[in-house]
Amino acid sequence: MKRIAARIGERVVSLSNLDKDLYPSYGFTKADVLEYYRRISPCILPHLRDRALTLKRYPDGIGGDHFFEKRCPAHRPGWVETANIPQSGGEEMTVCLVNGLHTLMWVENLASLELHVPLARVSTPGIPDSMVFDLDPGEGADVIDCGHIALALRDILGDLGLECFVKTSGKKGLHVYVPLNREETTFDDTRRFSKTLAQVLERSYPQKVTSVMAKDARKGRVFINWSQNGPSNTTVCVYSLRARESPTVSLPLAWGEIERLTRQADPGEFQFIHSDALQRAERDGDLFSGLLELRQTLPGF
Ligand code: ATP
Ligand code: MN
Repeated sequence: MKRIAARIGERVVSLSNLDKDLYPSYGFTKADVLEYYRRISPCILPHLRDRALTLKRYPDGIGGDHFFEKRCPAHRPGWVETANIPQSGGEEMTVCLVNGLHTLMWVENLASLELHVPLARVSTPGIPDSMVFDLDPGEGADVIDCGHIALALRDILGDLGLECFVKTSGKKGLHVYVPLNREETTFDDTRRFSKTLAQVLERSYPQKVTSVMAKDARKGRVFINWSQNGPSNTTVCVYSLRARESPTVSLPLAWGEIERLTRQADPGEFQFIHSDALQRAERDGDLFSGLLELRQTLPGF
């Protein structure tokens, strides 16, 4: 196996198999994956910080076997920051915290194409710092339908005095986030609130929206998955690559762009790849920075 030692700040990270093509039909090697994450690191690192990382690893590329890994791999350099998380059975699990570029490069060397994180940080596991609405198009629906529902959701949240942010999932749908950043707001609160809002939209647009997971209910509709608001749930991290045919990215978009793309009604226009993410990050900075800063209170909680 070919290995090189890369110096990153004060650390030396051992990188291997850099020329392995992880997206064969597109042509994107492990070196390209590392380079993408290195360049996007100023945007992604603040969103990974102090969160229990779930690695989604593709050691043989997107066509090969893959696995979700919640435990931090035992063979890790001493400088990888970790946290011990209590599990339901009473045992503890050691998880990785990606708190610097060196750790990001180390997890990417493990071919962790996708990075998934919970809504809470490890120090405050019961306190989500945001609320999420995972908009999933059912059979016969698509991302344009998700765009319409995201805009309706933004309007309702706006009427309630809440600002929200939106990103593509990098796969089929969209994710809408409401920053909270208040230690008084718990997962019980965000679950109840998001469920109620999903039901309100379901009643307003019964032909277009469902708040229940059943496959039949989803047909031709957008499923507003509010149940992602739980302490053990994860969502793909903003700016993470996805393991699709091409290296798509879960990318934040301005609401004006959601309006434009939804009007335009071409689902392909909602797919963004690594180079789009880097260009936009350079032009706009991190459109999701408000998620980490804005303090908001759910009305009635
Ligand atoms: P899409 O737009 O296609 O729905 P998505 O990333 O939103 O893409 P979902 O299936 O809706 O995918 O799941 C939402 C989130 O739940 C994912 O981003 C992921 O973090 C988490 N998740 C889904 N399936 C699993 C799984 N099998 N194991 C662990 N986490 C999962
Ligand atoms: Mn989804």
